[in-house]
Amino acid sequence: MLEIRDLSVNYGHFTALHSLNLTVSPGEIVVMLGANGAGKSTLFRTLSGLQRPSGGTATWNGVSLTGGKPEFNVANGVAQCPEGRLLFPELSVEKNLRLGAFVHRKDPAGTARELERVYELFPALVEKRNVQAGSLSGGQQQMVAIARSLMARPKLLLLDEPSLGLAPLVVEQVFEAVQRVNAAGVGVLLAEQNAYAALGIAHRGYVLEGGRVSLQGSQHELMTDDRVRSAYLGV
Ligand code: ATP
Repeated sequence: MLEIRDLSVNYGHFTALHSLNLTVSPGEIVVMLGANGAGKSTLFRTLSGLQRPSGGTATWNGVSLTGGKPEFNVANGVAQCPEGRLLFPELSVEKNLRLGAFVHRKDPAGTARELERVYELFPALVEKRNVQAGSLSGGQQQMVAIARSLMARPKLLLLDEPSLGLAPLVVEQVFEAVQRVNAAGVGVLLAEQNAYAALGIAHRGYVLEGGRVSLQGSQHELMTDDRVRSAYLGV
């Protein structure tokens, strides 16, 4: 279980996260809604070990995520799929995927099995395996990005804005894959501005405003909340 307790992050004198409390269980998809600048990426960078907090704790199954190297967090079961995908555009799809398995480099048989699993999850990538990742459509690139994070065999997937710039039908495909990953026992923390699509697959969620949790609740509670409806669902 991911347990975040009173987590604060400063950039110099600016506080980007104020005493955040948040949990994700392995069986859950938890959405984090918030406008640009609310602090979603800061939280993910902190959980990935890329940003040091100024206070509080974040643990995965009791092990701290905030004290060591990012590679340790990945080996500990927490993988991030970053906003903007950050693929290596010149490399083939399969080389990008294999890079995601870096922490399992001493287990090539396990990596081969995982490759087959991610190709099953995203069949559209099979015929693209030897194609440069940068030449794929936006939707396929997002699939590569998610597949690459799954190559680390995470138990918790941090997904930052996976729907950004994608057509509604492609968003549906990507989110359906996320549900299948979750059904296989991977907890998902999903940062999204596309509240409608995200609440469609999430079990619970939080609304982040100015680095603070302003609202939290079940999928139903958030979907029917007037503040969420007017600010994030355009109703
Ligand atoms: P976006 O979706 O645009 O990435 P976000 O919710 O992920 O938004 P963050 O990127 O976490 O938000 O930023 C939270 C706040 O911290 C913003 O006000 C931002 O300007 C500020 N911030 C982010 N990174 C830095 C930095 N390296 N130095 C100073 N301030 C920063």
